[in-house]
Amino acid sequence: MASIVGGIGTSHTPTIGFAHDTHKQHEAVWAPIFEGFEPVRRWLEEKKPDVLFFIYNDHITSFFLDHYSHFALGVGERYWPADEGGGARRLPPIAGHPKLAQHIALGLVADEFDLSFFQGKGLDHGCFSPLSVLWPCEPQWPGALVPLQVGVLEFPTPSARRCLRLGRSLRKAIESYPEDIKVAIVGTGGLSHQVHGERCGFNNTPWDMEFLALLEKDPEALTHLTIAQFAERGGLEGAEVVMWLIMRGALSSRVRKLHQSYFLPSMTPIATVIYENEADGEPAAEPLAEYRARIGAQWAGIERLPGTYPFTLDRSVKAFRLNSFLHRLIEPAFRRQFLEDAEPLFAAADLSGEERDMIRRRDWRALIRYGAIFFLLEKFGATVGITNLHIYAAMRGESLEDFIKTRNAPVLYSVAGQDAGKTDWDKSSPVAGA
Ligand code: FE
Repeated sequence: MASIVGGIGTSHTPTIGFAHDTHKQHEAVWAPIFEGFEPVRRWLEEKKPDVLFFIYNDHITSFFLDHYSHFALGVGERYWPADEGGGARRLPPIAGHPKLAQHIALGLVADEFDLSFFQGKGLDHGCFSPLSVLWPCEPQWPGALVPLQVGVLEFPTPSARRCLRLGRSLRKAIESYPEDIKVAIVGTGGLSHQVHGERCGFNNTPWDMEFLALLEKDPEALTHLTIAQFAERGGLEGAEVVMWLIMRGALSSRVRKLHQSYFLPSMTPIATVIYENEADGEPAAEPLAEYRARIGAQWAGIERLPGTYPFTLDRSVKAFRLNSFLHRLIEPAFRRQFLEDAEPLFAAADLSGEERDMIRRRDWRALIRYGAIFFLLEKFGATVGITNLHIYAAMRGESLEDFIKTRNAPVLYSVAGQDAGKTDWDKSSPVAGA
């Protein structure tokens, strides 16, 4: 069974990563940053968690305003530092933990947290700035990362109460994961600061101290504050400290504080804490077997449906490269290139031999079985002049003619728009894979 070895709170200002990369350990103005992180680094070295569950917010780097969500869980196989304008930091990618992430997803969704899921994205300083001083990255990172990106930058943002509750739900999910792994929870952000407008440069050290005391002893009290009250006391961007409540919620009601540091060099105080669980004596509200049944209840039995391939996170991670490739068919230039000569595109996307082969052969059934999502197959069909009905027939292993007979109206259609070269489909055209 998985266990939570404790929680870490840390600021995630870019100064931490900058100080690390430019080797400022021995310069008087920077040294306190490293001193604050040293006990945390040693604690991690001693506890040896297999996974860091890393709560952070992206700073409009990989999560843009075209689709901004509250809780985005990283389900991918690896993560790398994002380019924030001056090139990415030279840190190696870190492995994800898709299996644990999938289990956590089930638990949180069963508790009615509406998540989004991400993979294939770089993570910005919100994650890698503290991560690079917490864990050594050479010769390789000592464990895996499951990131949770919290959308705290576009209002309305999640409340403190929502965050603490999410943490409690997270604890149940992690502690019910069947593998024997150790997980540390890392909450990042803050403390008091504001980086925009005439109020930029705002800090409030007395409030930061009060926040840290309440976080440790009475996190529930913090949930009575509105985001506006957090912003008033700790600056607008400082209101991102609600993310520390997710970490705190994932720990026992009473915690032992092993370490706390605070240093305000410039715009943002750099704070660190370590908490370990104290026996809280609270009986588990829900026995493990009941919990596991509940989080799987919506999907129980779905595997028995014949010819049905639910697009699970497992499939999504496995076939992410293939689906990413097919998704690019919504770009006119990529589409043109694909029709001219797909081979260089296969190579550029690093598709496996099996993946290339399924695409070359237009093997709709194999693609679905492999993990392509249907809604990309219809785009692929539209690109190569094949109708949805051809694809349906091929997936069923029938001729188009036979399949059409099972419909009330003998019609052909596709999602092809005005660019499609062909919309007068010949019913008798060969259907590969049928
Ligand atoms: Fe931030």
